[in-house]
Amino acid sequence: MSGVEKVDVIVVGAGIAGLSLALALARVGIEVAVIEAAAEPSPPPGGSELGLWDSRVSALTPASTTWLDELGVWGAMQAQRTGPYTRMSVWDAAGTGEITFSAAALGVPLLGHIVENRVTIRALLDGARQRSDIRLHWGAGIESANFSHGEGVLVRTQDGRLLAAPLVVGADGARSRTRDLAALQTRTWSYNQHAIVTTVRLAAPHQHTCFQVFLDTGPLALLPLSDPMFCSIVWSLDDGCWEGLRDCDDADFIIALNRALGSGCPTVVATAARGVFPLNQCHATDYVREGVALIGDAAHSIHPLAGQGINLGLKDAAVLAEEITAVWQDDMPLGQTAVLRRYQRRRKTDNLLMMSAMEGFKRGFGSQNPAIRVARNAGLNWVDAALPIKNWLAREALA
Ligand SMILES: Cc1cc2nc3c(=O)[nH]c(=O)nc-3n(C[C@H](O)[C@H](O)[C@H](O)COP(=O)(O)OP(=O)(O)OC[C@H]3O[C@@H](n4cnc5c(N)ncnc54)[C@H](O)[C@@H]3O)c2cc1C
Repeated sequence: MSGVEKVDVIVVGAGIAGLSLALALARVGIEVAVIEAAAEPSPPPGGSELGLWDSRVSALTPASTTWLDELGVWGAMQAQRTGPYTRMSVWDAAGTGEITFSAAALGVPLLGHIVENRVTIRALLDGARQRSDIRLHWGAGIESANFSHGEGVLVRTQDGRLLAAPLVVGADGARSRTRDLAALQTRTWSYNQHAIVTTVRLAAPHQHTCFQVFLDTGPLALLPLSDPMFCSIVWSLDDGCWEGLRDCDDADFIIALNRALGSGCPTVVATAARGVFPLNQCHATDYVREGVALIGDAAHSIHPLAGQGINLGLKDAAVLAEEITAVWQDDMPLGQTAVLRRYQRRRKTDNLLMMSAMEGFKRGFGSQNPAIRVARNAGLNWVDAALPIKNWLAREALA
């Protein structure tokens, strides 16, 4: 068929999961086309005024930054701006329960980094641009796919481009069109919450500490950025509670924020514009079928309360890259179900475990039941005092 761009792998979606997979595959000479629905992102603006920070940030675990380093992009991210954190303090607003984690107690240099998503995407993009084996197509998402085409999967983009490859990877986020086209089913439910995100300035330095308070209406996190006086806010709120905080003026928002955070945190004195995201849990029943694999939020999206979403997505990309590379080096065809199932087996249990843990947290801390409140406060204090269990929890979060 003329006019068809043939590559080894088509990656749908130039988010963090998709770009990291493209880079990992290109390292061994696999030719990749990345198709992205949005326009090419502009470079992060210089300057450190409050409004110039990306309100979308991720808490990257050491395992994630190690992998980004292997891909050759972590250095560029650090040269931009990354906020290391060494302490985590989590407490229940409706009681006395509290748990703290510190790098010093665990014998590690730090617990992770808070990084603006656009810093990560820019570094991955710059890395991808240096590779002749990655072709990037912007502003035209996947429109249709023929999965029984002679050359693998034939993809048509919204601007009429045709691409063919033995394997298409859906890295197109929680509302994945690739997943729908491949008829891969999901289990989806709404948390009946929205998250308000923004950047805030503090009255005193954050001391590289992540603060998270569980309120009756949902968890609120204050995440330390590379500037010691700036933090990112992720405030998850039940439906019916977030709308007023989205619409109020900055002064009222700051008052509500400081009241919710209580006296254990630095006081917030200024805020940038707010963004709002609906929170849903979604898990694909199968991540793969012949010629197709899903990674990142296309396969699973979870509540942001433990900041694990993209860390799971990066692990998916790393494992899928490993499985594809092994097949490629043995000169075997890519896209076979048996190969893709190995990826699914290696990732699904880990993802399910994290999703169940988040659901448990969300339900336990969302409960107004006095018995559950007492139990969760006692539980937090007990875990805080039980060092082996606490260390195990922390190591799980670092991996
Ligand atoms: C408020 C909030 C806070 C969070 N905090 C954290 C945190 O601290 N730590 C953490 O690990 N995770 C966090 N997460 C989760 C994290 O943001 C996601 O898990 C992560 O962004 C998913 O990355 P992805 O690359 O899989 O998908 P996405 O980031 O959704 O990227 C998908 C890409 O595909 C493109 N696309 C969509 N449709 C098409 C199409 N039809 N064709 C082509 N391209 C398409 C999109 O434009 C996008 O570029 C948070 C999430 C929220 C909502």
